Order: sequence, then structure tokens, then C-alpha cells
Amino acid sequence: QLIGVVAESAPGETRVAAVPSTVRQFLGLGYEVVVESGAGAASGFGDREYTDAGARIGDAWDADVVLKVNAPSDAETARLRAGATVIALLTPAQRPELLRALADASVTALALDAVPRISRAQSMDVLSSMANIAGYRAVIEAAHVFGRFFTGQVTAAGKVPPAKVLVAGAGVAGLAAIGAASSLGAVVRATDPRPEVADQVKSLGGEYLAVDVAQEASTDGYAKATSADYDRAAARLYREQAEDVDIVITTALVPGRPAPRLLTAEDVAAMRPGSVIVDMAAATGGNVEGTVPGRAVVTDNGVTLIGYTDLASRLPAQASQLFGRNTANLVALLTPGKDGRLTLDFDDVVQRGVTVVRDGEITWPPPPVTVS
Ligand code: NAD
Repeated sequence: QLIGVVAESAPGETRVAAVPSTVRQFLGLGYEVVVESGAGAASGFGDREYTDAGARIGDAWDADVVLKVNAPSDAETARLRAGATVIALLTPAQRPELLRALADASVTALALDAVPRISRAQSMDVLSSMANIAGYRAVIEAAHVFGRFFTGQVTAAGKVPPAKVLVAGAGVAGLAAIGAASSLGAVVRATDPRPEVADQVKSLGGEYLAVDVAQEASTDGYAKATSADYDRAAARLYREQAEDVDIVITTALVPGRPAPRLLTAEDVAAMRPGSVIVDMAAATGGNVEGTVPGRAVVTDNGVTLIGYTDLASRLPAQASQLFGRNTANLVALLTPGKDGRLTLDFDDVVQRGVTVVRDGEITWPPPPVTVS
């Protein structure tokens, strides 16, 4: 079968679903690969690199398997062949109309953002790999705007204290931010309602700040919405930290809900001028009052509040490489015979989980899976 790698059309998107090394993996699995001209340009991969890897440049929309980063638009869906398979980020829970359109086009659609979060599927988990990149990039954005060193120094010119960084939410993105900030030399603290993250925070060089209010334990690895008692105690912690730290990076999410509000406008006003906040939850309502999704704003007291929603795309080569690797791992799972033929085994929870439309029929949501 023919795999097609198409160019992204969403404004500001710099990623591509497969890079030249991914092409080689596909060839090894028995596929042929066609890449739309310019598909990798924004992430630094030229047509020539794809052809050197064994792909040809041409109409990738006509392929048997079409790889994309973002969901296809209506016009793009119309370009898919009946019977083709499209693999992309599809946000199936939020976009029933997209699933309908894909079903009407008689295609099979695999949502990379519906990979079950079980150990066996980690190699295909695009949400994790993009969250990891975004967490790292959040620190780089903060460092770019912050007018001082992150690291402390003692030089002939005098002593410079290290910057203090608070990371709120220590999931995949938060842990990446903790690692990046502490490797730049900052003093890093982190809080999260899941106490089990304390050791991970520590191992990356951070200090875990506990909010001492018992929480309902997580059954699936994700946080539950926090209680009013917890939120009151956490609010005190955030105010105290806002008065002390230079940088705040917020990453808090609760699946299926708007992002929890962690810092109020008064907390932001309590920060020193020149401080920086990166609100990684900007796209889903924001953890910080005053965040503007997609923009950086400076408050009256001189705090820069960054609400970029494209943090992973700001590291396009890295993001495309990991996205490609995740996609290739999924394609490898779906090609057990290494014969260039995609198959779907609905007895496998991973394959069942990602399949949101099969041969023109909506198959979302899948039956529930127990997370391990
Ligand atoms: P997420 O993006 O849903 O949430 C980010 C973080 O915000 C979480 O750590 C959460 O506890 C925290 N949070 C929620 N409410 C908060 C509040 N009020 N205040 C502060 N923080 C709050 O989570 P995620 O990063 O996708 O992953 C969560 C966990 O799931 C990870 O720690 C990881 O161990 C696990 N995971 C497993 C797999 C896998 O096995 N394939 C893949 C991804 C994640």
C-alpha cells in the first residue's frame, strides 16, 4: 500500500506527520511512500531529504494511508479516497461533526490522540511526546522574556542569586518543565494534587510542595477535580509562592473539564515586575486569570503572562521527529506481516481505542479500558 504524508494547512502549524527517518521505517514495513511537496519545509525537512530516504514527491492525498498532524478540513476530507485510512490528531470527543464527515467520506480514521494511556502504548502516545516538548519549550519561552539568569553565579562583578521557578501540575509537561528549569540552574518547586509525583519531581531536581488536604486517590493515573478544601489550601500556597518566585509555569488539567483556575489576578499582581508566567492550559480556559490564548500580555505590574497554545510547534524539528516516531510505531503495530498492508485487530485495546471511524462507520467512543 501507499502511505501519503501531506502538508499541514492550519495557520501557524510547523509540524509534519513524518520525517525522512520515518519514511525509512515505512519502507522497512513494506510500504511505498509519497510526500506532498513542501510538507516538511516548516520543520526543516526538504523534499530532497524525503526522496533520499526513498519517498517520492507527489499527490499524497490519493494514498491508501494518509498521515497528517491536524484533523483534515472539509475540503481535505473530500480529497481522501473512499476506503483510505487517515491517521491524525482528531479530538474525537470534541468533534462529532468531523467524525460524521469522515464516515460520510467512507474512510477509516485513526485518532493519535485516542491512544490508550497504557504502558504498552507509550511508544505511540503523541499527547505525551508533545506535552514533553511543550513543557521544555515553556521554560525556554520564559527564559527568553525573563531579564535575568536562571542560574546563580558568583563572579568578580558580584553575586547573582538563581531564579526561582514554580511549576504547577507535575504530569508529563510539568516534569519536562521541571527538568529544563533545573538544568538551567534555577531553584525549582512543583505542586500537584497527586502525591505520587513527589519522587519524580525530586529526581528531576525539583522540590515537591504538598498541599496537605487529603484528595480522592486517582484510579486511572489522572487527577480528579480537587475539593473546595484543597483549593482553599492551594490558593494560600500559590499566593505565598507568587510573592517569592520569578517564574510560574502552570500545566494543570483534569480530563473532560475546563482547566482548573490556580492563580487569580491578585496573585499575579503580587508577583515582582519582570516575573514571567507561562500558562500551558491557555487553550482550555487557562490556569491563570488574565491569560490570553495564543498571546503574551504584560500586566500593569510588569508581569509577562504567556498563553501560547502552539508550544510544541515552536520546536518543529523535534516535534515532527517524535510525532513521526509515534506514528511509525502505530503503523508498525498495524502491519504485523511487514507486508505493506494495514490491518485492524479490534480485539487489541490499542487498535480498538484509536479507531474512531471504520469503513464509513463511527466507532467512537471505544469500550472503556483499565489503565495500567
Ligand atoms: P494532564 O495533562 O491531564 O494533567 C497535567 C497535570 O495537572 C497532572 O499531573 C495533574 O495531576 C495536574 N493537576 C490536575 N489538577 C490540578 C490542580 N488543581 N492543581 C495542580 N495540578 C493539577 O496529565 P498528563 O501529564 O497527561 O498525565 C498524568 C499522568 O498520567 C502522568 O503523571 C503519567 O504518569 C500518566 N501517563 C501515562 C501514560 C502511559 O502509560 N501511556 C501516558 C501519559 C501519561
